[in-house]
Amino acid sequence: MGLEAPTLPYDYSALEPHIDEETMKVHHSKHHAAYVKGLLALSSATPTNASLYNLLRGLDANDGLTPADKAVLENHGGGHYNHSLFWLFMAPVAKAGEARISAMLRDRIEMDFKSLDAFKEEFGRQAAKVFGSGWCWWVFDQATRTSRIETTPNQRNPVMANPSCVCLLGLDVWEHAYYLKHQNVRAQYIDCWWNVVNWEFVSRVHDELAVAGKGLELTESGHVAFPEQEGSCE
Ligand code: MN
Repeated sequence: MGLEAPTLPYDYSALEPHIDEETMKVHHSKHHAAYVKGLLALSSATPTNASLYNLLRGLDANDGLTPADKAVLENHGGGHYNHSLFWLFMAPVAKAGEARISAMLRDRIEMDFKSLDAFKEEFGRQAAKVFGSGWCWWVFDQATRTSRIETTPNQRNPVMANPSCVCLLGLDVWEHAYYLKHQNVRAQYIDCWWNVVNWEFVSRVHDELAVAGKGLELTESGHVAFPEQEGSCE
């Protein structure tokens, strides 16, 4: 696994005014970096040359790991994985926008939630009611071939309990993600965040990975490599 916080694909100020520069800087360079550093506590029984995704997938039921290593992976491994995805789930306003939702993803939203507005309302409602620190996720379940919204406490990821889940979208609702700008008003942070959702990336995760039976693996550099397009000459 990559033992560094991945480089952001945009500047710290690129999500202004929705997510402020100072929050992005502290969140990425301090909080995310601390989760990565925490992984150094893994014992030699859990080699760090394994992929982080494969260690987290089905973690709860994995009896091949020591309880101490499972705790490190749940907290720090989850922190590293969740944040690496979170940066990719966002993009500057010019590259965000609901017009970038693919046809397949639009069908998914309409099938599982009736409309985009109904989806956003339900996601926002569940994100707002996470008690304390945690995450709100939109997951596609490859076992049932439907999508749903789930929340997790602390740095847990849905894939730890359910290996057939692929995270299509996730929102960090820890106070460190919004307190500098929005103080205690989490609902305002959630409303602003929709403006910087990278729908093109979310669509690719759905269309090219989730429905194709693939997992959401991170590369060594903490990004996502999509399968090569068939017939591509590049
Ligand atoms: Mn965070």
